[in-house]
Amino acid sequence: MPPTDTDCVFCKIVAGLIHCHKLLENEHVLAFLDIGPLSPGHCLVIPKGHWATLDAMPAEVAGACGSVLPTLAKAARSAVNAKAFNVLQNNGPGSGQAVHHVHFHIIPIDGERKLHFQWTPGQLDPTQAAHLCQAITRQL
Ligand code: 5GP
Ligand code: ZN
Repeated sequence: MPPTDTDCVFCKIVAGLIHCHKLLENEHVLAFLDIGPLSPGHCLVIPKGHWATLDAMPAEVAGACGSVLPTLAKAARSAVNAKAFNVLQNNGPGSGQAVHHVHFHIIPIDGERKLHFQWTPGQLDPTQAAHLCQAITRQL
């Protein structure tokens, strides 16, 4: 049995205790319309088990979530005639994550983009890059 959290709103949706507008379901994954959409067709893909952040999930379940993204994105985009879409996935404090159960947003863009993020690129320093490569690969 996957982990569950009785206080978690998405676990309650998985358990059928809170209604959702269901789009897709399989052994590992549930997808439904977001209750506070940024645009028409905004939907969420969640694992049925409770993991707070992506890096806490088993790879198999993360893969199951990832494998429905193309199909669902295509369907949501076509349904609302959107030319583009964003996939958003927040993890942990400071990221904007409000529900601490892993979820992927699919947000069709119909005309004006509603999702805004400030992105001021820095410059990758070669010495720091070498250290970072070592530090990250050591953790793999
Ligand atoms: P986050 O900020 O954590 O990435 O996004 C959480 C998302 O979950 C929000 O877009 C919010 O509208 C959605 N949400 C929160 N509670 C519910 C709910 O009870 N039902 C549905 N369908 N969506 C929810
Ligand atoms: Zn949960």
